[in-house]
Amino acid sequence: MSYAHRLEGKRRLRLKDFDAGEDAGLKRGEAEEKTARLIEELVELQELLYAVQMQSVLVILQGRDTSGKDGTIRHVAGPLNSQSCSVASFKVPTDEELAHDFLWRVHAQTPLTGNIKIFNRSHYEDVLVVRVHELAPREVWSSRYEHINAFERLLADSSTIILKFCLHISKDEQKKRLLNRETDPIKSWKLSVGDWKEREYWDGYTKAYEDAINRCSTKHAPWFIVPADKKWFRNLAVAETLRDALMPYRERWLEKLEEVGRERKKEIEGYRQGHNHSV
Ligand code: AMP
Ligand code: MG
Repeated sequence: MSYAHRLEGKRRLRLKDFDAGEDAGLKRGEAEEKTARLIEELVELQELLYAVQMQSVLVILQGRDTSGKDGTIRHVAGPLNSQSCSVASFKVPTDEELAHDFLWRVHAQTPLTGNIKIFNRSHYEDVLVVRVHELAPREVWSSRYEHINAFERLLADSSTIILKFCLHISKDEQKKRLLNRETDPIKSWKLSVGDWKEREYWDGYTKAYEDAINRCSTKHAPWFIVPADKKWFRNLAVAETLRDALMPYRERWLEKLEEVGRERKKEIEGYRQGHNHSV
């Protein structure tokens, strides 16, 4: 069973139809064990992805403030080999970034072949925060859905496996997390007045997320809605989705590696014979 909800193709999704508190009837301990096993598989798949140098993986994390983007990175990407997995965070654009088209800074961060790149926020901010706060006129942000689809198509055609996650939390859970950040001295660095202000735009964000997901869900770059009120379930759902997306390539990658291995061996043998080496 898939714990995250996959969306591809045209569909009129409503966020309220998805239960943010969903846990598939699992207990926390059980879910954590499953997650640990999935991550072990992921580590192996990452190694193959890197060795075989045929594809790259782009993971896009989006979600409202406190939805758990950082936590997902810590728990799911943390155990991966940092040699070939890295994170790019997209903040308020700099003057230089603003002086370019909105995809300029994003394109520069896409993964190298054989690598996994995690986007903490992404080009979707340009149809989310920008739309909700009217940072650009409607004509500008409304043309971006098409640009995004074309951009993601280009990446997919260039052998990038794209997975987009919307970490879906409820308004009550967000309130709890904001209050918790306020009372915990170690967590309050994460909080800003802006986060409480953003909460007033809850419905605007709902609409913006729904449009982004409805207009930019494709077979080559699907969106996944992740029930994220329970952090352990969120981690499980993201880990499972990543494993399931990479597993179908495993056989092909192994075959390719064996083929490359055979060729290398032949080269080495040829070298030895040519030089009369006996090692
Ligand atoms: P954080 O993820 O908490 O570090 O915050 C990053 C902030 O940058 C968030 O408030 C985002 O909405 C904002 N941000 C990211 N991308 C853009 C963008 N393209 N335009 C405006 N604000 C953005
Ligand atoms: Mg924040």
